[in-house]
Amino acid sequence: MINTNTDDFKEEVDSVEEVQSEENISEESGSDSNSESEFGEIELKCPSCSPQDETWHQIIKSGQSPVARCMDCGQINSYRISRPKKKTLKIIVSQMENTTVFQTTFNEEERFFVDDEIIVDDDISGTAYPIVITSLGMKEQKRPAAFAKDLDTIWGRAIDEVTVKIAIQDKDITKSFDQKVPGDFSYIVGQNVKIDGKTYPIVSIKIRGGGFRSKAGETVLAKKIKRVYAKKPHRMYDSGKRENR
Ligand SMILES: [Zn+2]
Repeated sequence: MINTNTDDFKEEVDSVEEVQSEENISEESGSDSNSESEFGEIELKCPSCSPQDETWHQIIKSGQSPVARCMDCGQINSYRISRPKKKTLKIIVSQMENTTVFQTTFNEEERFFVDDEIIVDDDISGTAYPIVITSLGMKEQKRPAAFAKDLDTIWGRAIDEVTVKIAIQDKDITKSFDQKVPGDFSYIVGQNVKIDGKTYPIVSIKIRGGGFRSKAGETVLAKKIKRVYAKKPHRMYDSGKRENR
C-alpha cells in the first residue's frame, strides 16, 4: 500500500466505494440503480458543478436521448440509460422447517456470494424476503459466487433483520453507512435517520427494483429499500423547510 490515505480511511472508502461503483455503472453501462424515478429525478454527475460525484437532476426529457437539469447549478445535461439483460432465478428459502420456492428476476450482471445478505422479491406475489444465501447453483453444480447469468437457483435462509444502506450527503462528499434494522422497520422521507448519534433528514429513498420516493411523509419498509439518501442539514435552514419543497 503506497497510498496512506487509503489505509487511513479504509472504513470510509470501503463503504463509499459502492456508491462510486454505482456511479460508474450508471454513467457507462447503466444499471437498475440508474432507473428513472416516477417523480422524474435521477442522480448523475454534473460536468458543470459536480464532475466527480453524482448530484440530483430533474428529468426534463426521457426516452431515447434523455436530458436532465442539475438541481444544484441548473445546467442541462444529457445522459444515457442502457437496460441490462434480465434473468429469472428460482429461489428456495428455508425458514424454520418450512421451505418456500419462488422466482425472482435479476440483472444478468448481478453477482451473488454465499453468506451474503440479500433481499429477493417474489415476481408473482411481490413479497420481499430478506435472506442469507446458503448456496448457489447452476444445474447440479454448486458455486461459492456467481453472476445471475451463470445461475439457475439460489438457496437461502430467511432472516428478519436487514442491512439498509444510508448515503449521507455533506456538500460534495457522500458517505455510505450500513444500518441493521428489522425488515419491517419504516423509513420516512422528511424524517430523521440517526447515524452515530447524529440525525440527518431523509431526502429520498431508492426502492429496490427502481424508483424513488422523495415526497415528505412517504414511507418505505426497510426490506424494500435499496438506499436511503439523507443530507447533513445546512445551518442556515431548518429541516422543516426542506420538507416543504
Ligand atoms: Zn450542476
